[in-house]
Amino acid sequence: MRDFNDLPANHFINTIINEDLKSGRYGDRVHTRFPPEPNGYLHIGHAKAIFVDFGTAQEYSGLCNLRMDDTNPAKEDVEYVDAIKEDIHWLGYDWGDRFYYASDYFERMYDCAVSLIKKGLAYVCQLSPDQFREMRGDLSHPAVSPYRDRPIEESLDLFARMRQGEFENGAMTLRAKIDLASPNFNMRDPVIYRINHQTHHRTGDTWCIYPMYDFAHPLEDAFEEVTHSLCTLEFEDHRPLYEWVIENCDVPCRSRQIEFARLGITNTVMSKRKLRRLVEEGFVCGWDDPRMPTLAGMRRRGYPAAAIRNFCAGIGVAKSNSTVEFAQLEHCVREELNTSADRAMAILDPLKVVITSFPEDHSELLPAENNPELPERGTRELSFSREVYIEREDFMEEPVKGFRRLIPGGEVRLKYAYIIRCDEVIKDENGNIVELHCSHDPNSRSGEDTSGKKVKGTIQWVDAKTAVPVELRLYDLLFTKANPDDVEEGQEFTDFINPDSLTIPENALLEAGLAKAEVGVPYQFLRTGYFVKDKDSREGNIVFNRVVSLKSSWKK
Ligand code: ATP
Ligand code: MG
Repeated sequence: MRDFNDLPANHFINTIINEDLKSGRYGDRVHTRFPPEPNGYLHIGHAKAIFVDFGTAQEYSGLCNLRMDDTNPAKEDVEYVDAIKEDIHWLGYDWGDRFYYASDYFERMYDCAVSLIKKGLAYVCQLSPDQFREMRGDLSHPAVSPYRDRPIEESLDLFARMRQGEFENGAMTLRAKIDLASPNFNMRDPVIYRINHQTHHRTGDTWCIYPMYDFAHPLEDAFEEVTHSLCTLEFEDHRPLYEWVIENCDVPCRSRQIEFARLGITNTVMSKRKLRRLVEEGFVCGWDDPRMPTLAGMRRRGYPAAAIRNFCAGIGVAKSNSTVEFAQLEHCVREELNTSADRAMAILDPLKVVITSFPEDHSELLPAENNPELPERGTRELSFSREVYIEREDFMEEPVKGFRRLIPGGEVRLKYAYIIRCDEVIKDENGNIVELHCSHDPNSRSGEDTSGKKVKGTIQWVDAKTAVPVELRLYDLLFTKANPDDVEEGQEFTDFINPDSLTIPENALLEAGLAKAEVGVPYQFLRTGYFVKDKDSREGNIVFNRVVSLKSSWKK
């Protein structure tokens, strides 16, 4: 028996479910489903739906089905089915043995349609698509169909022959007989079956008629005995039809539909049609390009699944659509990585430093903590020798006020190593700085500093002898426009792709040990950002993606 004093109460969906539990509408069952159409990869919007569908089931110790909503024969692909499963598992959810295809119910749906005809609640309509549109009516005029009152026998015969493939696409439809004058146009005798001579990726050529979404979806839910069918707001006006179908078909469960707001994020697009165009037209390198809002892209980018779950929890579940700043998602990624990611050093734009006081042909191994937040992660050894590279921007010949890093004659600490002083700036014939000559204080070694010196700045470095070249892929927003869906006439969303969404510094260097990092494990490169090794890495060409920079512009 459920404890009614201890029910979740985070949002309106909880309120509805709690009422149903108290009234015993579904006994003590809570059963949801996530119903993706396998025509693309899952994106961050789907993550919200997954969080709501699977998360709600979890909250109530209920069940959540995974169902491929494949009633539409076009554009579906096994690649997508596999990717969808992988992404949901990665996010941390599991459907157990409850994996379904809507197309498995085609025969049962057909039977429901026949039973509606027999009850006088559906009829075959032979209006052409154009006539259909002309006769839809408007708010002050009802729709019209001359076929509405044809005999049941005639509709049964025509529907059977539709199934047999006797008619062309568009020749006729099966319509539910509801209310031609309804102010809700979804109820004006909606089409529930149409003819479509197209091969289906699972049922092949068995069918040439396919159920419409509004008819199929409630049946799928009811067949699976889903109690609460959680979907996005655009289906709100379809709910009366959902209920009508459940009411009038012989189904084992009276599932109910509850709508919540769709998630939008700035500077990206979320429609699968648009995402597919980005892939097919080569604007990105695939569905898992780290700039894509897909879960596969975010995983490759190095976003932890927990960050995405936290993001979904943070944006909440409400009834009005909203667009969330991309920076809010990045904030969640940073929060998650701040403690979990080990530290390392890399240099994006190297400036050579020769430590003239340090013996030639000599190297030291210096201990460096892997993660100051998690001492149990231990230390690694960094090699240090006479030549190191620092970040070019960490040196200023004519320092601006407040600059705390290296300047001519000034001192700075090399992280985990020594305090160095800049003695000489070496330039080429054009006046460009090519290297710095510095000297170190041998008594200033980190952890055993007896120099008594106080320096203001600490900077990162890599050892010239051992550092490895690295391809650092620095990602930025994919679109320059906050809402790329909103374009003027003659413009396309692709016109707003950010030309600098990927930049790669030419001479970046990485501390040696990171060459052996595992793909997908994020690191914090000190003072630079979070990075993760990419699957494109090869012997001799190590690739790291920037997950996110260190600083945020987003304020809570
Ligand atoms: P598209 O129209 O781009 O193809 P879709 O919404 O039709 O996307 P589906 O595969 O049908 O994609 O979606 C599966 C589930 O995910 C649906 O329940 C849908 O409501 C939900 N969903 C899709 N996009 C979002 C979003 N941006 N925010 C919240 N839920 C979403
Ligand atoms: Mg859909």
